[in-house]
Amino acid sequence: MRVRVPAKVNLQLGVGPIREDGYHDLVNVFHAVSLFDELTAEPADGLELAVEAAPYSRVAIGRVPTDARNLAARAAVLVASRLGVEPRVRLRIRKAIPVAGGMAGGSADAAAALVACARLWDDRERPALSRDDLMEMGAELGSDVPFALLGGTAIGVGRGERLTPALTRGTFHWVFAAADGGLSTPAVYAECDRLRDAAGESAPRPSVAEDLMTALATGDAKALGAALANDLQPAALELRPSLARTLNAGRDLGAIGALVSGSGPTCAFLAETDEDAADLAVALDGAGVAEQIVRAQGPVPGATVL
Ligand code: ATP
Repeated sequence: MRVRVPAKVNLQLGVGPIREDGYHDLVNVFHAVSLFDELTAEPADGLELAVEAAPYSRVAIGRVPTDARNLAARAAVLVASRLGVEPRVRLRIRKAIPVAGGMAGGSADAAAALVACARLWDDRERPALSRDDLMEMGAELGSDVPFALLGGTAIGVGRGERLTPALTRGTFHWVFAAADGGLSTPAVYAECDRLRDAAGESAPRPSVAEDLMTALATGDAKALGAALANDLQPAALELRPSLARTLNAGRDLGAIGALVSGSGPTCAFLAETDEDAADLAVALDGAGVAEQIVRAQGPVPGATVL
């Protein structure tokens, strides 16, 4: 069983007040891009897990746990317990999505493992797991997991896990600048709260940006570039000041939109055409502002069996 699963970039990440359960109220416009992890699952005596970098990728896999803490392993255990079977599976993850990069790589692997294990342990003796079952289990594993199952472009509310697909036209061309070392998502949210407290600001209730939705529906890359917004960006820049240089370099080199992806530190740049994206990627690589530059297009489907 081989499953391919995409990274995401947040086109809008609106961070609202902290809820009673400790999570922030979010409005999240997720967009799946053609930067993929690949997971294979095959029968084994117990739960085994191996992680390797995808060919030609410089992704730093050193920080990915290879034990029960890996989100893919947790997904396999969850599917097994739901089906009442033993989690006897060998999972192999080939990573191309930057680790702790704000592109939801761990969530992507969890989504891939949900799909792969549900197929692997599918048996006529018991009812198969439905798409809704997988989405529900995904939400249990993490706020970004349901979107990795769905793919495309979607609006997420609540913790980000309640999804509505968004209408889009055409393909958007992206360049991603992955930084050396990750940023911890909880630390970035905490910094966002601290900055708001220090400024005496209360968190506004976030709402979906109409200009962003219009840009997506009309396939207007320039308008999309102008509408990109991430409330976590000031916090990510505070924790990693060098990202300001990366963002400025991308803008100076012709990007029509630039933002920190999710909690960072990966920076996302939008180009008008595929050719512009190729030029921007080469120029950014030459500028030496990032560990690795990758091009990708969106939207693409979510976790897919190959
Ligand atoms: P998000 O955008 O959802 O905040 P992220 O892209 O910043 O996530 P991930 O790559 O998902 O970050 O990894 C965050 C942490 O999760 C890692 O530092 C690692 O310790 C842990 N982790 C668990 N499972 C995985 C996995 N399969 N791949 C990567 N990291 C994993």
